[in-house]
Amino acid sequence: MAYRAPLTNHHADGSPCPAEHKHTSSCKPLHPDCPGRAYTQAICTCGGWEMKQSGKGYVNESRRRHLASHPKEPKVLRDLLRLDGS
Ligand SMILES: [Zn+2]
Ligand SMILES: [Zn+2]
Repeated sequence: MAYRAPLTNHHADGSPCPAEHKHTSSCKPLHPDCPGRAYTQAICTCGGWEMKQSGKGYVNESRRRHLASHPKEPKVLRDLLRLDGS
């Protein structure tokens, strides 16, 4: 199975800031219930990596680097391919 590490946005109290909470280009919240985005988080489904930073671009870059460190195909499949080749 492929690992995923979806980006999520959060308010300062840790509650999720959903996509419906629109923001101006200067990051001012437009939604009445939104106190503003405090940080962006990514948690990998492998369970061994997570990141929490205020900079969304940095989280996204680190996330991609982490996902690239995972093997592309599942171990079982690689074992099958190795058997085929021998
Ligand atoms: Zn919000
Ligand atoms: Zn991972």
